[in-house]
Amino acid sequence: MKSDIFVCSAWRDEHPRPVYTLSTTCPECGAEAVNSAPAPFNPEDPHGEYRRALKERARE
Ligand SMILES: [Zn+2]
Repeated sequence: MKSDIFVCSAWRDEHPRPVYTLSTTCPECGAEAVNSAPAPFNPEDPHGEYRRALKERARE
């Protein structure tokens, strides 16, 4: 089944979390929306913990 749901291609820069839309442009920032089927991000990113750890450290 082909997904009709798109996700803002610039959400990492523009939003705190992925912005989904049925349009081909983001309703919030106007950036191109890309098909979300081949997920451009992985919520269970194995490197996520590492990145978060780096962020925590940078705050000190
Ligand atoms: Zn957006």
